[in-house]
Amino acid sequence: MDLPGMWQHFSLMASELSEDLFEEGCGFDGSSIRGFQAINESDMLLFPDPTTALIDPVCKVPTLSITCNIKDPITLESYTRDVRYIAQKAEAYLQSTGIADTSFWGPEAEFYLLNDIRYGQSPNSGFYHVDSVEGSWNSGREENPNLGYKPRSPSDTLQDLRSEICLKLIEAGIDVEVHHHEVGTAGQGEIDIRYGPLTDIGDKIALYKYIIKNMARENNLVATFMPKPLFQDNGSGMHVHQSLWKDGKNIFYDPQGYSLLSEDALYYIGGLLAHARSLCAIIAPTTNSYKRLVPGYEAPVNIAYSQRNRSACVRIPVYSKSEKAKRIEFRTPDPSCNPYLAFSALLMAGLDGIQNRIHPGDPLDKDLYDLEPEELADIESTPVSLGDALDALEEDHEYLLKGDVFTQDVLDVWIDYKRENEVDAVNIRPHPYEFFLYHDI
Ligand code: GLN
Ligand code: MG
Ligand code: MG
Ligand code: MG
Repeated sequence: MDLPGMWQHFSLMASELSEDLFEEGCGFDGSSIRGFQAINESDMLLFPDPTTALIDPVCKVPTLSITCNIKDPITLESYTRDVRYIAQKAEAYLQSTGIADTSFWGPEAEFYLLNDIRYGQSPNSGFYHVDSVEGSWNSGREENPNLGYKPRSPSDTLQDLRSEICLKLIEAGIDVEVHHHEVGTAGQGEIDIRYGPLTDIGDKIALYKYIIKNMARENNLVATFMPKPLFQDNGSGMHVHQSLWKDGKNIFYDPQGYSLLSEDALYYIGGLLAHARSLCAIIAPTTNSYKRLVPGYEAPVNIAYSQRNRSACVRIPVYSKSEKAKRIEFRTPDPSCNPYLAFSALLMAGLDGIQNRIHPGDPLDKDLYDLEPEELADIESTPVSLGDALDALEEDHEYLLKGDVFTQDVLDVWIDYKRENEVDAVNIRPHPYEFFLYHDI
């Protein structure tokens, strides 16, 4: 996976699959992958991780798919910009703290299934071609009118497709729990997978997006995980449920605590909230993410926590009453994030909260959208733009560097990459709405 979060692939013939491949790795050009190497030091090595092997569920030609880690061909050291390695380091760091031995992650990635009116003519772009959006309104995508959350078919036209996708996900080894239409009326859906350990769920989100995109494509639709594809319809979030476990016990659970949460769980929330603004640069990492993080669409804009309230960044689901199910839900992430980086950053922020006993203050169990301006004044807001979030990350990132989980290099390249290729690139282009506002000024 490249740094921004796109899965990359290449294919070896079965004859090349040998033990040597697992020991010596396989070369690739690291300079052609976004956020990786400079051209003069481009050679890198891939090492397949046999535990990830599966029969690719979307390839027509039988294909064994194996996810790889990346190493330097000269030093044979793990590559510090390998996002999967960062996730593995985050898991190792958790163990080294003695706070817990395992973290569990349950992401709920939402997406839109839009009609692809360019289907059949589109180049091999995967998504929008810059040429087609530079000078025109027409993105080539069309809304798929449905009634939102959750009228039954025939109003929900996507029921069978979501079920078919679920069967494919299960075939690929992903434990699916539920699927449903989401609030977005233009064909928004959600498929929830069973929680699991950090790197494993990073792998599964990559596979999840890959399968959904390909199944949509087969049905002449396009799946987008863009956080806010449509004005005035709900955005797509990726709420992340999380808990820490030690010796088989959920350390977030305390039958006496607020909402059955332990003190450590509260400190973990404290860490997430204290670092929420800088976290946004990693968990809501696109310019479009900030079109989602606005009031009125069930996306959290206030940095607060609450037992029930879906308008707070952190929610403690009330129906999770047993020790096994006790967890917290962080609602700010969206599916444009790199899952390995997002889960790692969230874990580091939460651990920082536990290590420094950062109390999150009182919960906000009112509807945050209904608070008076004075009441809201004390509550911090999520960044207003990706630029704002990157500034926050530049200021506040010590918690990510612990245990060398994130290196300064990876944060620097992330910030530079995002500023140059996304923030600045969007800023210098006239926005279509500016034509409406200003063309006749
Ligand atoms: N789509 C909403 C978001 O952007 C969430 C809706 C929901 O799951 N209740 O986070
Ligand atoms: Mg959900
Ligand atoms: Mg949802
Ligand atoms: Mg949720």
